[in-house]
Amino acid sequence: MSVDKFIFQPEDKTYEFLERGTPPGGWRAGMTIDRLVPTHCAFCGVQCAMYLEVSGNKVVGVEPRLDHPINEGRLCPKGVAAYQQVNHPDRLLKPLIRKNGRLVESTWDEALDLVVKRFQDIQREHGKDALAVYGGSSITTEKAYLLGKFARVGLGTRYVDYNGRLCMVAAASANFRAFGIDRIGQPYADISLADCLFVVGSNTTETFPVAIHFFWKARDRGAKLIVADPRLTQMARTADLHLPVLPGTDSALLNAILHVIIKEDYLDREFIARRTRDFDKAAAAVERYTPEYAQNICGVPAEKIVAAAHLWGQSAKAMLFHARGLEHHTQGTENCLAAINIVLATGKIGKPGCGYGTLTGQGNGQGGREHGQKCDQLPGQRSIEDPEARKYVAGVWGIPVEEMPPGGVSIVDMFELMDKGVLKGMFSLCNNSLVSIPNLNWAIPALRKLEFLVVVDFFLSETAALADVVLPGSVWAEDEGVVANQEGRVIKINKAVDPPGEARIDWQIVCDIARRLGKGQHFDFSSPRAIFDELRLASKGGRADYYGISYEKVEAQKGVFWPCPAPDHPGTPRLFDDRFYHADGRAIFHPIEFKPAFEIPDDEYPYYLTTGRVVYHYLSGNQTRRLGFLLSQAPEPWVEMHPRLAARMGIRDGDRARVRTRRGEVVLRALVARTIRPDTLFIPYHWGPPRAVNLLTVNALDPLSRIPEFKACAATVERAEGAAP
Ligand code: SF4
Repeated sequence: MSVDKFIFQPEDKTYEFLERGTPPGGWRAGMTIDRLVPTHCAFCGVQCAMYLEVSGNKVVGVEPRLDHPINEGRLCPKGVAAYQQVNHPDRLLKPLIRKNGRLVESTWDEALDLVVKRFQDIQREHGKDALAVYGGSSITTEKAYLLGKFARVGLGTRYVDYNGRLCMVAAASANFRAFGIDRIGQPYADISLADCLFVVGSNTTETFPVAIHFFWKARDRGAKLIVADPRLTQMARTADLHLPVLPGTDSALLNAILHVIIKEDYLDREFIARRTRDFDKAAAAVERYTPEYAQNICGVPAEKIVAAAHLWGQSAKAMLFHARGLEHHTQGTENCLAAINIVLATGKIGKPGCGYGTLTGQGNGQGGREHGQKCDQLPGQRSIEDPEARKYVAGVWGIPVEEMPPGGVSIVDMFELMDKGVLKGMFSLCNNSLVSIPNLNWAIPALRKLEFLVVVDFFLSETAALADVVLPGSVWAEDEGVVANQEGRVIKINKAVDPPGEARIDWQIVCDIARRLGKGQHFDFSSPRAIFDELRLASKGGRADYYGISYEKVEAQKGVFWPCPAPDHPGTPRLFDDRFYHADGRAIFHPIEFKPAFEIPDDEYPYYLTTGRVVYHYLSGNQTRRLGFLLSQAPEPWVEMHPRLAARMGIRDGDRARVRTRRGEVVLRALVARTIRPDTLFIPYHWGPPRAVNLLTVNALDPLSRIPEFKACAATVERAEGAAP
């Protein structure tokens, strides 16, 4: 097959690994591309489709897939650079063991024997629950499933959680409460059909730069755009209406919009009566949220609140999306529920061009939260407290139900338990706590109190550098399995090459430890497909039902939307056309009262500090900070502030500025820009100490979802004379 013929044929349906010869025209001069491996990006929740170019056992390049509906040939800078981590010189090639305070190379047998001995010693002395497992959402769903099982069956501990707890779990919590299921309700293609798009707390152009083209398609059709954000982001600059909401006050803004919608009678009364419950409770709760009342809380002028309600209410088809800006709050779940109330009240859900959803951040942000990696969950989005679910999953796992541990606590709560000396050891895979946990001046000493920390990673992350044992794992191109993207579309990651040196594939490491712990009969997997087949069965009958999904179906259909309960079922792209997933099929309104952020500005700390991402980096930056082009574009973090605030503090653009909160301080370059509220500071979060914004954030949690309040705390800033970063 010629290169041109293959690349420029969008209708090409093949998912085969394609054989190729030397590319023509010096496109890769002197390099032979043996094959193209179809897969998806290593990074964000969009999960753009791509081909990895493979030469021998090296990934040497990338091509976007023109024929895939997720990205239609687009990639952002991170997607273009992702392959460079595969053969990166920083890859961990051998296990490391801490000896005399230093990490030194060891054999696998020595490292794994040590892990097993220390885990057994700790559990013998302190009980099963002295160990914790901490996973992530950038791994395949098979691995996420395996980690939940490893905690509960391999170690027998109740303590397992994942780093989506730091990401979008407030949205998950709201989805369950309102809809009875946790998934976005419609595919990307529906976005282009909307007449109005309302985006709350999402810097979509920067964080999901490929998904944005669905928004632009709608704009090309004349769709209106409303953006609520403390910063005038790139997307907000193009909007019909920008609502510059004060950090931590979103529910007041959303309640006021619902107030106007009710007063102006933009309600879909037939939909409310037929498909929902408890509208009256929500309506009563927003009665006092007049635009003027809300303006005094959220800082958005009353006339803009009214205008937003009119734009939304007058649009026949409208969609509301949010991301971490709405979710990272002590009221995160309630913020999301306030947004859902607007969607339900106007009946703008469950039909083409209408809908609601969170834009998940991590590559497998959706799949990672479906199959038992969460502290309160068993596979299939089942509750671990549900006796029937416990019995069913215990049966699939082949253990007596009495041996199934009860629910545990969130990862930030686990840090509390480390601090108190309750947790003694942890097995950590696919996360980087020492960048991502809030209030690091509290979290780092807590982590250091562990008697034994095991980290599986492919680079020596900030957290791995503190571990007692570091096990060299695999990058995404070295394994296969499924992930679920922002749409809830289950797609396939394919293996391109073997891990380098003595690095091993993550699931094999987990199974090997389980075997050495004497639990091998429960972890006798020979491939990701074998894990997936068990996952399918474990999820059967649950809300996230994967039973009817196969690798072959995923590849043939370019993704399968769950639930897919039977092999002959095509999947469910639109979730809510006929019903919601509570027992009576109805969605539920929730009355929401605004509550302030845990910490609000005062005389000593007079500004809000908020955090977020930039296009060139992913999560803790452990991967993207090593990739030359990405690092060259964003080599260090900065503190963004309005010119009025900067002038008041005598700070000029490019100066070093010291930002302080009650938890700590950091010194960063000042970026003075008119695109942020004058009372708010913004710092991106992809860097570790001493430049980590999480040295400043507060470890206050949403009581319903246990998500931390990364997006609002009280801070002060001053010019840092002569300070180096
Ligand atoms: Fe990868 Fe997300 Fe960029 Fe697509 S938008 S290339 S999935 S980082």
